[in-house]
Amino acid sequence: MTEKFICPYCEVLLTAKYYCVSCKKDFSIEVEHTKEGMLPEYQIAQQDYIDNACFNFLKEFVPTCNWDIAQISIIRDAIISVLITFHSKKEYDLYPWLLELKDTVSI
Ligand SMILES: [Zn+2]
Repeated sequence: MTEKFICPYCEVLLTAKYYCVSCKKDFSIEVEHTKEGMLPEYQIAQQDYIDNACFNFLKEFVPTCNWDIAQISIIRDAIISVLITFHSKKEYDLYPWLLELKDTVSI
């Protein structure tokens, strides 16, 4: 049985080759990693990039602050919201997640 995944951009079902017809994008690398429960290296690097940017922003105001994911995630949510709303960025590009199986998605 093949598992079915949905596109993280448009939520359309991917083909058997893990391709989104609507976005014209191949997700086979992301699917392979999702099956192992781990993001690909380049997506982990993207998450680190965002988290570090948020931490550096916080340090502008509190130079002595420690790395605290609770504080960083509040800044992250805000900056991602601004980038999506005002600058047409895609959430999946900014802070990627593991792909969702079709069965876990409520339709
Ligand atoms: Zn798509």
